[in-house]
Amino acid sequence: MGGTAVLGGVGTLRRERWDVVVVGAGVTGLSAARNLTDHGLSVLVLEARDRIGGQLYTDHGFTSVPVELGAGLIHGREAYTWELVEEAGAETVRVRHGNETPRPLETLRAPREDEDAAAYLRRMGVLEEHWPPVSIDNEPLHRWSASWMSEYGLFDWWSSPRENFRVVGGYDRILSPLAHDLDVRLSHAVRRVRWSGRGVVLSAHGPDGAVEVGADHCVVALPLGVLKAGDVVFDPELPAGHREAIEVLDRTDALKLVYEFDRRVFPETEDVLGWDEDAGFVFWCLSRQTPEVVVAWAAGENARRLLGMEVTERFATGLAALVEALGEEVPEPVARTTHDWTADEFSKGAYLFVPPGAHDAPGSLALPLEGVLYFAGEPTTGENTVEGAYADGYDTTDVLLAQRATRRRENATYTLRGW
Ligand SMILES: Cc1cc2nc3c(=O)[nH]c(=O)nc-3n(C[C@H](O)[C@H](O)[C@H](O)COP(=O)(O)OP(=O)(O)OC[C@H]3O[C@@H](n4cnc5c(N)ncnc54)[C@H](O)[C@@H]3O)c2cc1C
Repeated sequence: MGGTAVLGGVGTLRRERWDVVVVGAGVTGLSAARNLTDHGLSVLVLEARDRIGGQLYTDHGFTSVPVELGAGLIHGREAYTWELVEEAGAETVRVRHGNETPRPLETLRAPREDEDAAAYLRRMGVLEEHWPPVSIDNEPLHRWSASWMSEYGLFDWWSSPRENFRVVGGYDRILSPLAHDLDVRLSHAVRRVRWSGRGVVLSAHGPDGAVEVGADHCVVALPLGVLKAGDVVFDPELPAGHREAIEVLDRTDALKLVYEFDRRVFPETEDVLGWDEDAGFVFWCLSRQTPEVVVAWAAGENARRLLGMEVTERFATGLAALVEALGEEVPEPVARTTHDWTADEFSKGAYLFVPPGAHDAPGSLALPLEGVLYFAGEPTTGENTVEGAYADGYDTTDVLLAQRATRRRENATYTLRGW
């Protein structure tokens, strides 16, 4: 089974059959497809946008420097994605933070299952000035599950010395080692997934009309916002555990406002301002030459406040905050651009988070269905990093490959007995 069997059309309807169809060409979907292809399976990736990368979105058209409208950083020297950086032959620069000293945040005892992170830190006697900054983490800590944060090492991560890196030439450079020779159909939004123990049939809408694709297995690497909105219909509907997981997980809002100046405005010694403060914005300097490009980043409540404004007012608010952070006037920007991840129909929000009481939800959603349907990515890990997406594409498809091999062995035994 597998391969490209185009059976001909009924009107604009084409049918194809593959070993695996992957829905979504973000980092999760691409790494899933990479692993499966490298294991000799026929794999088709259906992507709604006209580009790959999902929330990793480098704009090469804005200025002389590439601008990251989504993910911008590699967190730490241990991230798995360093192997992609190496394969791509890309250079990186370390982001210079003003305050490089670790915050003394100690997690003394395990949190309670339903406790929120703010209540937990208070119970542990951690002073509020040592709490993880809300402005970095986009949602107030009382909206986070403490036990989930603890399990994923987030408290330790915040209290360790922070090292972040940018990829010179654009974060999207790390996509080429993943995507080369994959069969990715861009501008194909999946609308319906019909599934059973025998396989899947996906209905998608492409530039040439409706498309139907059949496969033995399907990896669903969609963002939570899209799953929550029900933009992709599962037929029959997903089991209760999966539906509840989608319902209880949450995501926040994020917005980047990008300004280009015809002279330097950022301090000589820093690349980031506002990282350690709860000031609403974090400012990043993306270039050390003129034109200088500065990004104002907002998430959570601040992003929602800005999203309630007209676009020109958003830019003005970000600029006023930059002037305040710098403590001096800046010239009128010569160019501006922005990306609103909440309004983005193929994202519908940003930064998944696990609310109190939803600790088990990512694991529930990750449970494979009949060896056919596999969910992957942010909603199944609760993580919201490129590294997490990369690792999960591989982890999920390792499970798929193992289950497929077992099923084939069982079928072979059955066939022999049948003789
Ligand atoms: C503003 C912002 C800043 C960030 N900063 C960082 C950072 O500095 N460092 C870091 O490590 N991480 C960061 N992240 C998080 C990181 O980008 C994500 O966790 C990661 O890229 C998620 O990858 P994914 O493949 O799971 O999901 P996505 O990237 O969301 O990919 C899902 C894909 O599914 C596609 N899709 C949606 N609907 C359909 C449909 N109906 N049919 C077919 N395809 C569909 C989408 O177009 C998308 O390509 C940031 C995210 C944002 C938004």
